[in-house]
Amino acid sequence: MCEECRQSPCDTRCPNNTEEEKTYCKICDKVLEDEEVYTDGFDYICENCFESMTPVDIAEMFNISKEAV
Ligand SMILES: [Zn+2]
Ligand SMILES: [Zn+2]
Repeated sequence: MCEECRQSPCDTRCPNNTEEEKTYCKICDKVLEDEEVYTDGFDYICENCFESMTPVDIAEMFNISKEAV
């Protein structure tokens, strides 16, 4: 049982609760902790994956379309 919230598993508001709201890289599913990530506010991409993306990948991900004017 947790010493902070006296629940098992931890209450979601407990500082010891590590289960909630983990951030995963959209590409490689790695858990993102203490690192810089790229995000559009919804999805997260780790630095490694982002750097290996091509401009076309990035454009698709952020719905940037290419058209003739
Ligand atoms: Zn707890
Ligand atoms: Zn990644």
